[in-house]
Amino acid sequence: MKEISCTLLVIGAGPGGYVCAIRAGQLGVDTVIVEAERPGGTCLNVGCIPSKALIHAAEEYEKVRHWAAGASPLGISLAKPAIDLARTVAWKDRIVGRLNNGVSGLLKKAKVKSIQGWARFRDGKTVAVETETGVQVIRAQTIVIATGSLPVELPGLPFGGKVISSTEALALDRVPESLAVVGGGYIGLEIGMAFAKFGAKVTVLETLDRVLPLYDAELTRPVVARLKELGIEVLAGARARGMSGKGDALLAEAADGRELRLPAEKVLVAVGRRPLLEDWGLEELDLDREGRFLRIDETCRTSMRGIYAVGDVTGEPMLAHRAMAQGEMVAEIVAGERRSWDKRCIPAICFTDPEVVSAGLTPEEARAAGAEVKLGQFPFAANGRAMTKLGEAGFVRVVARADNHLVLGIQAVGQGISELAAAFGLAIEMGARLEDIAGTIHAHPTQGEAFQEAALKALGHALHI
Ligand SMILES: Cc1cc2nc3c(=O)[nH]c(=O)nc-3n(C[C@H](O)[C@H](O)[C@H](O)COP(=O)(O)OP(=O)(O)OC[C@H]3O[C@@H](n4cnc5c(N)ncnc54)[C@H](O)[C@@H]3O)c2cc1C
Repeated sequence: MKEISCTLLVIGAGPGGYVCAIRAGQLGVDTVIVEAERPGGTCLNVGCIPSKALIHAAEEYEKVRHWAAGASPLGISLAKPAIDLARTVAWKDRIVGRLNNGVSGLLKKAKVKSIQGWARFRDGKTVAVETETGVQVIRAQTIVIATGSLPVELPGLPFGGKVISSTEALALDRVPESLAVVGGGYIGLEIGMAFAKFGAKVTVLETLDRVLPLYDAELTRPVVARLKELGIEVLAGARARGMSGKGDALLAEAADGRELRLPAEKVLVAVGRRPLLEDWGLEELDLDREGRFLRIDETCRTSMRGIYAVGDVTGEPMLAHRAMAQGEMVAEIVAGERRSWDKRCIPAICFTDPEVVSAGLTPEEARAAGAEVKLGQFPFAANGRAMTKLGEAGFVRVVARADNHLVLGIQAVGQGISELAAAFGLAIEMGARLEDIAGTIHAHPTQGEAFQEAALKALGHALHI
């Protein structure tokens, strides 16, 4: 096969890679992108999008199941509902398929050349791609590594058979009777809660002393209450050991040292993700590492001239929107623009029930950074719109500097509040002060009013509490 050359070569078409390629193409950079699987990466194929589709289906099913049991305060009654998970998954797959085509179309529109196959570096300027029709060699002035991440495997619980990762959990064609979830982070809880709503008996094991340990305890309290309501057993301080000899139960050690035997039709291991650094020729390069990840500077440049890296391969937070923002920035740099990473916050969301959003600094982080802080917290129990949606659990909390009221962080927990992440991110990115949020008319009745009230509360004059 003939060797081709280009200005920019992007390896991996996840959110980091494909956004980089589209933006570079828009700017007239001669760009090639290589992807071994389907466009969209983890996010679109086995991550963000499919998980949210199943979470939505589970929410709807749980709602009607609850109502069918005669528990609707809205006066709605219905006959016994049923779930056909194979159809749910087929619906999810259709969404994924539409988005795959969407990404391919956007790449084409930006005049990016897409090559399907596994890319491997030969040297810092040359990559060989194993395609269906042979090896395609590509020489590029600049290369972006956007190879993403993979689920972490536990030595005692290798993936296969009953032991599954999030990828397989999002493609089950039947609701398992029992599901043990190893790992109480956001992926484990999002999927665990969804399956509990579908009717599985779910147990969550977390080695630390509480679930969602990366969020403060106050923020996660409504989620913990909901886990209980859904009948999910949480074993904090427990350590998964392996499967029983017969393979029908998960063996674990409880916080007090007791041996546990948890019958489980499926065991979902969701203990984190690791950067994908194997089999693409890392050994041919001389790239510095930062812990497990590739080291990058504030322009996403690696330690080798002409090689950039974006997305999960570069570190935490491993989130799609961080990858996209990095990808866009690198494309503009390659096109000759002056850019560097100057973001004030990367909002993080747990699509649990209720949802959790965190943007910027928590009160503890702000204090640890030396700031004297003012806090304002407003509960959804005092928000009319939340009441009309049966979503009174949770609150919005604003963290600001005490001296000049600059907003440093915003956290919230509540039903459907992921959509407030846009307002939170904008406020922090624009350098809003408490007075800016308090002085902005927030439409009524919306859950967003709780954001305005939290700012008013921090200023000492909340109106509705
Ligand atoms: C279940 C789950 C739920 C998630 N939910 C969210 C969420 O709600 N919000 C959020 O922000 N993030 C979420 N994430 C994380 C998000 O998916 C990742 O942060 C994001 O996909 C990272 O993007 P990326 O471009 O770095 O890599 P990836 O999306 O992993 O894409 C990398 C791509 O590179 C390809 N590739 C790798 N090596 C090669 C090679 N040598 N040759 C050719 N192709 C190669 C891979 O096939 C892959 O398609 C979730 C993840 C999971 C697993």
